[in-house]
Parts: sequence; structure tokens; C-alpha cells
Amino acid sequence: MNIQNYINGNFHNPIKDNWLDNYNPSNGEIYSQIPNSSKEDVENAYIAAKAAFPGWSQTTLDERSRIMLKVSELIEANLDKLAEAESKDNGKPVWLAKAVDIPRASSNFRFFSNAITQFASESHESVGQQAINYTLRQPIGVVGCISPWNLPLYLFTWKIAPAIAAGNCVVAKPSEVTPMTAYLLGEICNEAGLPKGVLNIVHGLGTSTGQAIVEHSDIKAISFTGGTATGAHIARTAAPMFKKLSLELGGKNPNIIFADCDYEEMLKTTVRSSFANQGQICLCGSRIFVEESIYDQFKTDFVQRVKNMKVGHPSDEKTKVGALVSKQHLEKVLSYIDIAKEEGGKVLYGGKQLIIDGYENGYYMKPTIIEVKTDECRVNQEEIFGPVVTIMPFSNEDEVLQMANKVKYGLSATLWTNDLKRTMRMTNQLQAGIVWVNTWLMRDLRTPFGGVKDSGVGREGGFEALRFFTETKNVCIKY
Ligand code: NDP
Repeated sequence: MNIQNYINGNFHNPIKDNWLDNYNPSNGEIYSQIPNSSKEDVENAYIAAKAAFPGWSQTTLDERSRIMLKVSELIEANLDKLAEAESKDNGKPVWLAKAVDIPRASSNFRFFSNAITQFASESHESVGQQAINYTLRQPIGVVGCISPWNLPLYLFTWKIAPAIAAGNCVVAKPSEVTPMTAYLLGEICNEAGLPKGVLNIVHGLGTSTGQAIVEHSDIKAISFTGGTATGAHIARTAAPMFKKLSLELGGKNPNIIFADCDYEEMLKTTVRSSFANQGQICLCGSRIFVEESIYDQFKTDFVQRVKNMKVGHPSDEKTKVGALVSKQHLEKVLSYIDIAKEEGGKVLYGGKQLIIDGYENGYYMKPTIIEVKTDECRVNQEEIFGPVVTIMPFSNEDEVLQMANKVKYGLSATLWTNDLKRTMRMTNQLQAGIVWVNTWLMRDLRTPFGGVKDSGVGREGGFEALRFFTETKNVCIKY
């Protein structure tokens, strides 16, 4: 089966007829071909978006909202098909895609279909000067959206929905590793009546297709989610063209556990925050710090729970940990186990590839817990982005705060305690864009989402996203 580019409401082969193989991580087999799009394909997508912009930017909010709601409903109606496609592309359990990825993609469209009807701008009366200022927030024009492979449709729609809600037209590229649900979204947009050219999806490699989007002189804003090194490269390319940039990058998030927490709730959630989606979520708490007095108990209980997690084929409902996204990624994650050992880390559980009967060529590995001697080792400092966590004890608040902040990343942090004063002290000082206390990954789409330090620039979510996707213009009228 061939995936095609979605340009101006139609499906096209790449102009140069170059194709890439698309693998199913659960069995290592090639199951489709995707366009290896060139600059010319990106240009065609841009031309379609540019042509659609005058009409779409003048479409009433009611009408935009109605169409977006229809997209949301159609995503929901296609839940099973989309979840199976996501799982086949990414290796995640089908039940997870059904419970999280696809419902969230639908919510993204529903949320921004509402948010745009509530998005207001300011006015300032210049008292005593007989003048009034009002601020317009106008769509930018053609914008670029580039997303990663870990939560494919979820993150793709998280960018596209606010971009088009605000009246822009989009040239978008999903990860080349997980293109299928983005391809299916094209059909859904046509069925929902999204005008031709409002959304254009080009498939291909980041370094060529993605690069062509970022380099395009008239694509004025880029919303990117992916690795920190890619983000830095995009920033270097876009800066001389003064593009607006939203960069959601890597993380190495601390999970800080104090003895006074609700232990059972913490344990259950920590298993999830460590290994959900095979640990391939930028928000996973991959550095676990546990207060000394409960460290041994935690270690025993945590290892026991993780041992019980079934690693298996994504279609098996009992599977808790599916396949990693690609062979290359599995190799990268496994290489960190060797690094951990060289650094004196102790593998308490896992640390190995797993061969599953019937799916011998799939990319499976056991969830892995590494006890580290120091927070400064590489496995504790570098983003692994797989089912690998480190654990170590701490003796007091100052010590753990220092260790939590001593990485280059600052995306999220999780804190487990029932002490209110400590909560206030810690949440104020943790260097992160998002802090969860006594929970993890609880999301309200109105809240700002993003990181500090090398985890990115800008915030997504709620009105922050609509502000990003609009240009601000102040008008001053003297009367
Ligand atoms: P990459 O940075 O490799 O890729 C992200 C996207 O950018 C892909 O579509 C990729 O295409 C594309 N790309 C690569 N190079 C360029 C380029 N030069 N110009 C334009 N686009 C390019 O990230 P991964 O896909 O490996 O995703 C994992 C990373 O994403 C992790 O670091 C993770 O932390 C981060 N992430 C951050 C989140 C956040 O909200 N902060 C959420 C989820 C993930 P292709 O795949 O075809 O190479």
C-alpha cells in the first residue's frame, strides 16, 4: 500500500517518484511505502495553502468551528481504524491508542473549535487623550507544523487544530516513521468539508522535506515538536528569516518521591509515568529520586510491579509494553544499558532485548530499572526516550532539588508529597514548564504546555497556541 501526499484536498504521489519504506515495529516487516517528498512537493503544498488563505481567514468563526467539530466527530467515529493504524506504525498497544491517542486527537479539534469562539483581544482607552487602542490578532498566513513519532496523531493535531482555528493554512509533516494516521486524516478533513488547501500534508524525511518547510521564505511560523538537536538546527535555519518559532523539545524529567506520599497511588502512577507508551513520552519521569527512609521498600515494590508488566504484541489486550518504534531506536536505547553498566549503574530489572514468539523480528525490550550511584552519570543526564528509568535515594529537600535541576532539560517534573509547605517550596524552585503534584500527565487543554532550558521555547495549549498562530497588531484611533 502506498501513502500519498495530501495537497489541495487531493492525494498525490511525490513528483520525483521517490519512496521510503514504512516498517511495522511489531514484526519488523515493511508494510507500506511513503513519499520521500522533495522541495517541489513542499512548494505545491505551499501554493495550495497560499491560495486557500484569503477564503479561510475570512471564514466566520461559526463556520470554522463547525467544520472543526465535524473533523473531531469523524476522528471519533473512526476510532478503531485509526487506533489500529497508529499501533501498526508505532508499535504501541492498540488499547492504548484507543484509550489515549485517538480520543485526544479528537479532543484537540473539539477543544480548538470552541476556543476560537472564546478568543478575545484587548482594548485600551487612552484616558484624557481622546484615543482608543484595540489589538487585533490576525492569522499569519501559511504556517508549518512538524511533529514526532511517539504520539503521532495526538501531536500532529495538537498543532494543526489551533493553526487552522486561528485562520491560517498549513503545510504539515508527520514523522516519516509514523505517517499513517496523518494520511488518514486527509480523508477525514475532506469528508468534514474542510476547504481545499487549508491543510496540506507532505510526507518524507526531516532532513529534506522538513527542512524545505522550515527554509521556505513565505512559511512564516513553524511549530515543531521533536528532539533538542533538531530544534536547535531549525532555530538556526529560521532565525535569519525572523520566523515565529514554537519548539517543544526533549525532556529528562525528575519523579521526586517523599516518604509522606500516598504510597500505593504513587507506586501505581510511577509504573505508568516510567513505562507508558514504552517510555517514549517526552513527559515520562525517567529519573526517579526516592527519600532514603522508603528507598529499599520502594525498590522492592517497584521491581515487583515492573516484572508483572507484560511485554508483547500490540494487539494483545494484556500487553502493557509494546514494541519500540524502530530498529534504530531500539539499538540506541539498548546502547544506554551498556553505558549504564560502564558507569557503575546496577540493572535491577530488564536491560535486554526481548524476542517474542511469532514476532521474532519485532523491536521489543524489557522495561528497565537502573540503580545509579550518582545523578551526574550519562544515563541520568541524557534523554534515552525508551523504557528505561534510573533510581537513586536522596536525604533531604535541598539535595533532591539540586539534582532535579542539574540537567540541561526542563520540561516537566513530578512531586509526591502531602506536605503543603514543601509542595510550595519545591514547585516554586523546580526548573520545569509543567509540574505535577501527586499525579502525572493529568491534562487540561486550556493550560500552557512547554518547557524551559533545552526543552524548548514557547508554550502550546489553550489561548497560548492561538496567540502563537496569530500576529498581534495594535490600532490607535484618536477621536
Ligand atoms: P526528531 O527531532 O528526530 O524529529 C521530529 C520531527 O522533525 C520529525 O517529523 C522529523 O522528521 C522532523 N525533522 C528532522 N529533522 C528536521 C529538519 N532538519 N527540519 C525539519 N524537520 C526535521 O524527533 P523524534 O521524531 O525522534 O521524536 C523524539 C523527540 O521528540 C524526543 O526528543 C522527545 O523528547 C521529543 N518530544 C517532545 C515533546 C514535547 O512536547 N516537548 C513531545 C514528544 C516528543 P523524520 O521523522 O522524518 O526524521
